[in-house]
Amino acid sequence: MGYKKWNKETLNEQIKYVTKKLYETPSRELAATLNTLEDLKNNKPSIFSPENNFEEQISYDKTLLKEQIQFLPDIEKFAKLDDNYHEKINGNLTIRTIPNRILLSYVHDFYNSIDREFAKYFNKIFKERKRNLRLSTNNSTGYNRNYMNYLYTINYAYINIHIEHTIEDFFNIIHEYAHAIADQMYYRHRYGKYPFIELLPLLMEEIAYDEVINTFEDMDDDVLIVNAASTKTVLKYAKELILQKDYLSVVDKYLERKQFVNNLAEYSHNTKTKIEKILNTTIQEKISYIIPYIVMIELYDMYYDDPEKALYTTKKIVTMDEVDDYILYLNNLGIHLNEHTEIYVEDQRQKIKTYTDNV
Ligand SMILES: [Zn+2]
Repeated sequence: MGYKKWNKETLNEQIKYVTKKLYETPSRELAATLNTLEDLKNNKPSIFSPENNFEEQISYDKTLLKEQIQFLPDIEKFAKLDDNYHEKINGNLTIRTIPNRILLSYVHDFYNSIDREFAKYFNKIFKERKRNLRLSTNNSTGYNRNYMNYLYTINYAYINIHIEHTIEDFFNIIHEYAHAIADQMYYRHRYGKYPFIELLPLLMEEIAYDEVINTFEDMDDDVLIVNAASTKTVLKYAKELILQKDYLSVVDKYLERKQFVNNLAEYSHNTKTKIEKILNTTIQEKISYIIPYIVMIELYDMYYDDPEKALYTTKKIVTMDEVDDYILYLNNLGIHLNEHTEIYVEDQRQKIKTYTDNV
């Protein structure tokens, strides 16, 4: 008894149903749903669309930077926070064989205790877990990542979790279900300019860090490593983004990746290998974590004093329409970026200091 596969019968039924509906009332949304269902059935999740060519990617990155320009001063401020101490932490997590039933019952209890509305949306997807949840240890394409595909037209979600046999499994499952909750609360056909897709998942993970420590014994060090590694990644992204942003603003056209790498290496006094590494994560990917992460830190601080207020504020952001001035919108909700990022990072420094002193 496992969660190794999505249920093929359910997929086939849904394909049949959507095909029929599409025939009766053709629409783009239905066509997209049908595509996704077929991709899921063939184990080719649509989120793995092939990379654009480099020039397209650069031009897309530029557009994206322009759209999110209001956040750049705050990203720059965040990027300046010292993260040298992160080097002290080695990322090796204890290998644990946590039974699926423990993982899932933990996640179930987490969402059912945190908030009624979240619980309602969570339970709707979770009760279908024998059909729509895949916990895989397989390393082939389609299996080796964590993702959630929410199908708006049939209000259904497919989730894939790549089981690592470490404490990260808890947080990865929490993360993907948070996406399913957010999409049910406010589905965005085109993600467009809205920069907070990752906000609810990141906040739920952050809250779960404390909960996991309180629920299970001997998990403290592992939770610290996961938390520190995630802050480290986002800080690294922020520093890289600032570097790329400066360069993108002075050069108009790059015909080849090779030339771009050479120029950026020269401009930034970095090795070409380092630049190659930086470019492996697109600006799009970086920015989609950095912005929600710095918002999450403020919400998490609020949560500490007043959980209800923090969750209310989070829901406001999850369900907001697109606006021109996102920073103003956040300010009106009492969120001021970088008010607590320094304390947050400093707090982590202290914890890591205690940890490394004891190792
Ligand atoms: Zn995510």
